[in-house]
Amino acid sequence: MNASTSLNTKLSINFFLNEFTISQEAERHGYKNESNEKHTENLRLLCVNVLQPLREIINMPIFINSGFRCFDVNVAVGGRFNSQHLEGKAADFVVHSMNLADVFNIVLQKLSFDQLIYEFGKWIHVSWNGELNRKDVMISKKVHGKTVYEKLKGELRPFDFAQGKI
Ligand SMILES: [Zn+2]
Repeated sequence: MNASTSLNTKLSINFFLNEFTISQEAERHGYKNESNEKHTENLRLLCVNVLQPLREIINMPIFINSGFRCFDVNVAVGGRFNSQHLEGKAADFVVHSMNLADVFNIVLQKLSFDQLIYEFGKWIHVSWNGELNRKDVMISKKVHGKTVYEKLKGELRPFDFAQGKI
């Protein structure tokens, strides 16, 4: 399979591999950002188990901001050294036609996942790790310029964004 064919690999009904590998940061630096077979399989599982079911519940297009990141791209975007993006297990996405907080609460209530993070009110990070799923739910914020993760605990109820409580 050549590179252009593999980039068009269909991962699920509405998701293609190139949505998860195209990166402005990679283009800017000239990095290839190509997933290997294992990464691609992880991305497929993320689609089949989380993103595709979400796509069907909301019936709206989901835009992937960042999916797979090779080592160099992860460094360039300031990702954590152990980011699940490096393994193709995580994606950052937005849904332009819906309130992002509502989308977050749908994932929280209706789907299984490893980590679900509402990132600065701007995008949603979600990961899938199969049997090792932790079902961690977090909200990230900037406090005095530093990123702070607030972990939400207890029974998984919709997050009340007005109250800041779960
Ligand atoms: Zn992310």
